Amino acid sequence: MEILKNFVGGKWEELNDRDMGDVYNPATGEVIARVPFSTAEDIDRAVEKAADAYASWRKVPVIKRTRYIFQYLEIVRREREALSRMVTTEHGKSYVDALAEVDRGIESLEHAAAAPTLMMGESLADVASGLEQTYYRYPLGVVAGITPYNFPVMIPLWVIPWAIVTGNTLLLKPSEQTPMTTVRLVELLQETDLPPGVVNIVHGAKDAVNALLAHPRIQAITFTGSQPTAAYIYETAAKYHKRVQAFSGAKNHAIVLRDAHLEPSIDGILRAAFHNGGQRCMATSVVVVEEAIADEVVARLAEGARRMKVGHGFEENVDVTPLIRDAHRARVVGYIDGGVQEAAELVVDGRAAMKQFEKGFYLGPTVFDRVTPAMRIWQEEIFGPVLSVVRVKDLGEAIEVTNRSRFANGAIIYTESGKAAHTFREEIDAGMVGVNVNIPLPVAFFPFGGHKDSFYGAIGENGKDAVQFFTRKKTVSTRWF
Ligand code: NAD
Repeated sequence: MEILKNFVGGKWEELNDRDMGDVYNPATGEVIARVPFSTAEDIDRAVEKAADAYASWRKVPVIKRTRYIFQYLEIVRREREALSRMVTTEHGKSYVDALAEVDRGIESLEHAAAAPTLMMGESLADVASGLEQTYYRYPLGVVAGITPYNFPVMIPLWVIPWAIVTGNTLLLKPSEQTPMTTVRLVELLQETDLPPGVVNIVHGAKDAVNALLAHPRIQAITFTGSQPTAAYIYETAAKYHKRVQAFSGAKNHAIVLRDAHLEPSIDGILRAAFHNGGQRCMATSVVVVEEAIADEVVARLAEGARRMKVGHGFEENVDVTPLIRDAHRARVVGYIDGGVQEAAELVVDGRAAMKQFEKGFYLGPTVFDRVTPAMRIWQEEIFGPVLSVVRVKDLGEAIEVTNRSRFANGAIIYTESGKAAHTFREEIDAGMVGVNVNIPLPVAFFPFGGHKDSFYGAIGENGKDAVQFFTRKKTVSTRWF
């Protein structure tokens, strides 16, 4: 059984006597690797190496730092299929979705190559008579990235290039549930000429994260994960006076109006709700539909959900792939049981599919009708293949219901009315908004991030926002006598 290693100062470190976690193949339920849980001393050693590397890395001109990104980009492109196979193996998502994930990571690398332009400051010649002012951007120092299980390539590739191209050195703490692909990403980084210590991997869970949060030499934390952890990270990082951004949980609503093109809309909702087993922070988990067309929409959703193919990620045309762990599946099943108890109308029951599989963490798509904001299945993030339908009288009520959620990552409207789409755009409280778009994921040059309890922080991910997050400014006032 492979035991994963930390990568510190350019060397792989064995931590075979630490506490360990199991990494599973969710399609078979087999343990495929073990991951060590770094201690505070392990983190300390890695921070020291990252700090040593920072002393010279921050002086490397940004154009040269960018050339490492170009080198890495070519290697990741070359390994696109192999990385995607690893994602499917340790996460369970379909190979098609894994390829799409790797492609989103590649786009981040491509955009990070624009760092010389994005790092520019601004100047004004005459702020007062004979006085000029300019600001420059500088790196922060040693920074840390803490990533979730559901995008083991994309999210590390939203962190690595931006953290280092701006001149910082990085400790990356991948999810202990899907650490293998991230390890592979760093092995590939070794094929570039990147100096040792610029990127380091430290494995672990809560204790490792606590050590990162408390470490005085770590300047900033970028985190993505569930809402309770995000709140904890945000509060604790602030306690230690660190810069922090914490991308959090979601409950994305899709509003369907009576003038929507139902065929593509329903198809899009089904994919957004059930692909990846619903384990996406941009997954659609609630449909808010006008009463006038609700019966037809529910019937179509039910028919589509029943037709969806449940299976492992390498199967042709698979729709619903397994959940990450048995315990997570049990949690999702608990929500389905709870929905039934709360008297939501169970239209399609995904629990039935569990019996078809002897091994693996499978769960079929579930659809509930007549869900209300009083129910837990509406209020909480389930992060599984469970779709709730809320019936409303009109657009105004649809927006009101959507805005009542404590989460506000993404929101979508399906309509042919420009006026309705405009009202939705202006009134909806969400960070990423779509009009007839199934997953309104921003491409690499637009900022990613939600509102309310879906994001704690001020500066988003990717592009200009990433440069802003990973740099600080120095404003220089100059006068010549
Ligand atoms: P998680 O919160 O369990 O774990 C995320 C990271 O935090 C992991 O690296 C984990 O080791 C660490 N962690 C977990 N518990 C901790 C604790 N108590 N103290 C300190 N560190 C801890 O999240 P997950 O299950 O890996 O990921 C799924 C969640 O992430 C979902 O809620 C999903 O919505 C969210 N997510 C959000 C976005 C976004 O951009 N908003 C993107 C992807 C996933």
